[in-house]
Amino acid sequence: MNTRTGQLYIVSAPSGAGKSSLLNALLERVDNLVVSVSHTTRQPRPGEQDGVHYHFTPIDVFRQQVADGNFLEYAQVFDNYYGTSRLSVDALRDAGKDVILEIDWQGAQQVRECAEAVTSIFILPPSVAALNQRLHGRGQDSEETIQRRMRDARSEMSHYPEYDYLIINDDFDTALAELTCIFYSARLKLAPQIQQHKTLLDALVG
Ligand code: GDP
Ligand code: ADP
Ligand code: 5GP
Repeated sequence: MNTRTGQLYIVSAPSGAGKSSLLNALLERVDNLVVSVSHTTRQPRPGEQDGVHYHFTPIDVFRQQVADGNFLEYAQVFDNYYGTSRLSVDALRDAGKDVILEIDWQGAQQVRECAEAVTSIFILPPSVAALNQRLHGRGQDSEETIQRRMRDARSEMSHYPEYDYLIINDDFDTALAELTCIFYSARLKLAPQIQQHKTLLDALVG
């Protein structure tokens, strides 16, 4: 019987480092794993769908949700607000899903303060030039937005020492394999294994 409560993960990176691409590929390889859909006040990019990529939320509604205590964490990133719904993360974890929060360093600090156990991963680009190239190559943000993101990248990146794991996303497949290892090894730790295999363990040594 599965009595497991899902584990909580945080993945942070400067915009353009490749975290969304890596997480999308990770979800195809690892079952029972989901990425939490954040609320944001930013405008959707071409192709982004409400409820899938983000819950696109007007600023007044977002402020009300903050006042109501609906967010596990929230932060201002660049010129917009981003936040994680407490209820939706709890529901996913109660259903046995491991949940990834794709959030910035400010949100990561808030979650570490209130969550009992969380594994955090920071992703860095192989160079500043590569980051710039990837933001341009993605082709979804205006030049002004890209410049803003490049300006903020250094301060975002300076927070890497606060994380449990560090991945350099140079070769994509290598970075994906490294990321996959972290998730598999976290699942094999004693506490989640005891939860997952309670019936078997009772039968074997109970
Ligand atoms: P991208 O990272 O370039 O794809 O840009 P996004 O607009 O998707 O995200 C912008 C920033 O907001 C990133 O640094 C994310 O880590 C952060 N972010 C996204 N969702 C959340 C959230 O729910 N909470 C917090 N605190 N930050 C978030
Ligand atoms: P983030 O979610 O961190 O902002 P994305 O996943 O949107 O970043 O990636 C930004 C761009 O860089 C995308 O166009 C993506 O295809 C590309 N990219 C991601 N990883 C690599 C890599 N290892 N090598 C080259 N390009 C990459
Ligand atoms: P983008 O606007 O490019 O989708 O996201 C920009 C940054 O916002 C990303 O680097 C992402 O990590 C961060 N972000 C997205 N959702 C959240 C969230 O719910 N909380 C926090 N703190 N940051 C978020």
